[in-house]
Amino acid sequence: MPPVPVMRRAFIETYGCQMNIGDSELMAGSLARQGYVTVDDPASADVIVVNTCAIREHAETRVLGRIGQLQVHRRDRPDLVLAVTGCMAQRLGADLLENTAGVDIVAGPDSYRKLGDLVDEMRFGALPRGQMLLALDETEAYEGVPAIRREGVTAWVTVQRGCDHRCTFCIVPYVRGGEKNRDPSAVLREVRDAVADGYTEVSLLGQTVNSYRSGDWDFARLLRAVARVDGVRRVRFTSPHPNDVTDEMVAVMAEESAVCPQLHLPVQSGSDRVLKRMVRRYTARQFLDTVDRVREGVPGVALSTDVIVGFPGETEEDFEATLSLLRQVRFDDAFLYRYSLREGTPATRLPEGDFVSEKTSGRRLEEVISLHRGIQREINGSILGSVHEVLVERPARSAGDVLGRTETGKVVAFPGDPGWRNTYRTVRLTSTSGPTFRGVVAS
Ligand code: SF4
Repeated sequence: MPPVPVMRRAFIETYGCQMNIGDSELMAGSLARQGYVTVDDPASADVIVVNTCAIREHAETRVLGRIGQLQVHRRDRPDLVLAVTGCMAQRLGADLLENTAGVDIVAGPDSYRKLGDLVDEMRFGALPRGQMLLALDETEAYEGVPAIRREGVTAWVTVQRGCDHRCTFCIVPYVRGGEKNRDPSAVLREVRDAVADGYTEVSLLGQTVNSYRSGDWDFARLLRAVARVDGVRRVRFTSPHPNDVTDEMVAVMAEESAVCPQLHLPVQSGSDRVLKRMVRRYTARQFLDTVDRVREGVPGVALSTDVIVGFPGETEEDFEATLSLLRQVRFDDAFLYRYSLREGTPATRLPEGDFVSEKTSGRRLEEVISLHRGIQREINGSILGSVHEVLVERPARSAGDVLGRTETGKVVAFPGDPGWRNTYRTVRLTSTSGPTFRGVVAS
C-alpha cells in the first residue's frame, strides 16, 4: 500500500494594513510549496505564523500578548513552529527572538520566499530553533511565489513594495526598505489568475501605490490596463501619495468604468508647519488643490484620509488648521490617530520639549473624531434613498443580513442570503448609523 500522505497545516494570523494581507497570502504560497494547507484553527496547525505591524506601539503590544497565548498549543504539539513575520519582526529582530518566549523564527518582509523551506528544516531537525531572516533585498518582488487567497471577495495585488519617502513619523522605509515596483506583465498575469479564481474586485497595493513606475509604465497606465482585464468589474488601489496624483491618473479614474470612484488621500495634518516637520512634501494649499482636481475629474468620488494629531511641535493653531482642512474637504471617511513615537524614526530626534502631552493629544483626538463623525453623518444622511451596486462580502452580524460595499466603499447591511457572497446586488440605502448603512434590495 502506498504511504498515506500526512497533511501539513499552517495557521496565519495577520495584523496591520492591506499590504500585510497580501504578504500573508504570499507566505501561504511559500508554505504551500512544502505541502502546507492553511487552516482556521491554530490548535490543529504544525506551523503558526503571526504577521505583524510596527506602525504603532499599541499594535506591537497586542502582538506580544497574542504570541504568549499561542504558546498553549505547544503543549499538544511539541514540534510546533512559531514564526513572527512582518514589520515588527524586522524592527525588533534579535530582541524579539531573545526576549519573547517560544518564538522560533523571526522573518522580515523580504524573506517570505524562504519561509516554507525554513519551517520544514526546523520541524525535521535540520535547523535549530531561533532563526532570523532579516536581510532587506532590493530585488525581491516575489515573482513566482503564488498568492494563496482564502478570504474575502477582493484580490489584493501588490504592485509595489517599500517606500522612498522619509516621513519623519513613519517606520515603514526602515522595515520594508526602498520602493520596488513589480513588472507590469507579472501584475497583469496575477490579475488574470485572480479573475480565473472567481474574483471580480481587485485592489492594487503599494506603500505609495501611485508612484509606481516600471520602464515606461506609470501608475495611470497600469491602472487602465488592470481595469481592462476581462472579468474585472471593480478596481481600487491604496495608498496613494497626494503628490503623485497625476492628471492622467484622475483621467483613468474618470474614464474606466471598472475603477471605483473612491480615493484614499492621507493628509496627516492641515498645518504647513507640521507638514514640513513630517516631511510630507506638500502644503495644505497643494493638498486642497489636489482634492479639487480629483473632485472635478471624478464627480461623486468618495474621499478618505489619515490624520495624526499631537505630532511633536503641534500648537493649538496648527491643530485648528487641521480641523479647518477637515471642515473644508469633508472626507467620507477618516482614520484618526494621535502621534505614537516609534524608535528608529527621525521624529524621535525632535527636541524633547516639543513632544505634546498625552492629555493634550488625547483631547485633540477626541475633538477631531467628533468633528469627523458629524461630517460623516451628514454626508451619509444626504445619500439615503440612493441606489448602489453592492458586492456582497459575508453574512452581517444581524441574523438574516448580508454585508457588502458600494462602488464608493460604503458598507451596507441588508436582508439577503449568505449564498450571495461574491455577487452583486442593487441596493437602496434606507438608514445610516453614521459610518455604515442599512439597505434593501432594490431590484
Ligand atoms: S509615504 Fe511616508 S507615511 Fe507613507 S509609507 Fe512612506 S514614509 Fe511612511
